[in-house]
Amino acid sequence: MEEPTNAIIQSSLDALMQDESFLPELTENMRQQAFTSLSAILSTPNKVHKSYLRVPLDNGKVVRIPSFRVQHNDALGPYKGGIRFHESVNEDEVMNLAFLMTLKNALHNVPFGGGKGGIVINPRTYSEKELNTISRKYVRYFADVIGPDKDIPAPDVGSGEREMDWMMAEYKKIHHGTPYLGSFTGKSVVNGGSKGRREATGKGVYFSFRYMIHDFLKEKEELLSSTDNVFARTTLDMAHRPLKVAVQGFGNVGSVTAHEAYKCPLVDNTVVAVSDRNVTLYNEEGLNIPALIAFSAKNKGDLPTTEEQLAEAGAKAEIRGRDELLTLDVEVLFLAALENQLHEGNMEDIKARIIVEGANAPTTEEADNYLSDKGVVIIPDILANAGGVIVSYFEWLQGRETQYDSEDEIYQKLVAQMKKTFDMILPQFYGDPFPLRQNCYIHAVSRLSKVLYKQGKLY
Ligand code: GLU
Repeated sequence: MEEPTNAIIQSSLDALMQDESFLPELTENMRQQAFTSLSAILSTPNKVHKSYLRVPLDNGKVVRIPSFRVQHNDALGPYKGGIRFHESVNEDEVMNLAFLMTLKNALHNVPFGGGKGGIVINPRTYSEKELNTISRKYVRYFADVIGPDKDIPAPDVGSGEREMDWMMAEYKKIHHGTPYLGSFTGKSVVNGGSKGRREATGKGVYFSFRYMIHDFLKEKEELLSSTDNVFARTTLDMAHRPLKVAVQGFGNVGSVTAHEAYKCPLVDNTVVAVSDRNVTLYNEEGLNIPALIAFSAKNKGDLPTTEEQLAEAGAKAEIRGRDELLTLDVEVLFLAALENQLHEGNMEDIKARIIVEGANAPTTEEADNYLSDKGVVIIPDILANAGGVIVSYFEWLQGRETQYDSEDEIYQKLVAQMKKTFDMILPQFYGDPFPLRQNCYIHAVSRLSKVLYKQGKLY
């Protein structure tokens, strides 16, 4: 597993070790032993499955595609997490992402453990027929280890409802006669998916930001004003004034986040920049986000890259280099692309005062420490981007009952669940010196540890 995760687990464990109210029944030696066990459990996955999918291509060639399913921990429920389709997928990355799923579910009280899958391909270079075969082969190779009460995959970068529909169909074929609706989440609505699942991550990401800067603040402004906590000062400083917003990534998460920011009546946002794998589009007056969403829907998910395409989209913007977005003079930066986007090489140039992690692990440990030391509020991945897995849980429940909620009901339930987590975390965050990520880790690890202890696993 990558170093950053290890460092932050260790400091969360250290903080818990010092907290006498945490598992007070443990006496001195047992306490030490329990923490040694915890550290081992958290820093390594339970199981790593690896296969080479044999796939015949349209041109007659046959390839072997490396693929993974990592099952990190299932103390809180069946393993749960997406399957990433990306050419840079590797075992360490999938292990780290599976670990983040364990923490994300623990933090938000979702009764699932943590897992993650990966297929090492660039899906843009395969035909629909080939992708169908790859998706089905993935299920066949991992058929014994997945299932509604074992391990439930979902979409991630490069995959979506189409792939989940294919995968569930294959699962159903293999496990004929057993319940199958809960084997995959993120399916299309006609195929047993949940309304609102596609938008859930992006909406949850925007809600996280809005909740901190508006809803929570409205009620707790006095509490924030009376502390000298550096993060409280940043939040207060950003409240009640116009905010320039930039969104990195314009896929399923970024485009929805940008749209939510664009239309939010509660915060005075101007979305001045968005970017994707090709470009940054910048307009100080604000971008026409609905026009850009309509364009990308017609152009394989890509933003306009030329003046002609901008005219076709009906959007006005300056075309800039892809990574320029990160260092623009904005107050708020949403990261909804891939991991390791803020790092030692660009951290000193970041101007945003609030960073919201829509992607998993977009900030390296160095950048995280550097920016937090400067009082930048980072709303971390496991807190901000849990909307996807929370609505996956609702989808899984609806599949069990074959009773489905309306989109509005799903959204209300989603924000109610995220609000609960925020209300648990924020008062402490504004009162102590730890950044938000550390606070979230402590809560997640504490919840997980209590269950592991009760299950007799901390010996
Ligand atoms: N891939 C998403 C995540 O990273 C969703 C996982 C799920 O719905 O299981 O949280």
